[in-house]
Amino acid sequence: MSYVITSACVGCLDAACVEVCPVDCIAGPVSLEEVVAAPRAERGVRWPGVQLFIDPDACIDCGACAPACPAGAIFGEDDLPLGAEDLGRARAFHAAR
Ligand code: SF4
Repeated sequence: MSYVITSACVGCLDAACVEVCPVDCIAGPVSLEEVVAAPRAERGVRWPGVQLFIDPDACIDCGACAPACPAGAIFGEDDLPLGAEDLGRARAFHAAR
């Protein structure tokens, strides 16, 4: 099983999940170096429509990221509010990298 970042990440991009993930399996269309270099309060505005994605094949299901997310955007695969939709987007993002 994997944890999944939902679209509630859009407009936030806090990236606290990146800091706690022990296997570095979270990425986004904007480089993480660029994101973390920007002030937290400005990230969602600076990159509208952008969110981070967990690589479902690399996630070890530790659950550390979910409580770290200030937007409440991260759920276990079996608890996703929109079913498998967000998992599908995460798979598509990481497959294209
Ligand atoms: Fe990383 Fe653990 Fe979250 Fe998976 S559940 S993305 S391994 S912090």
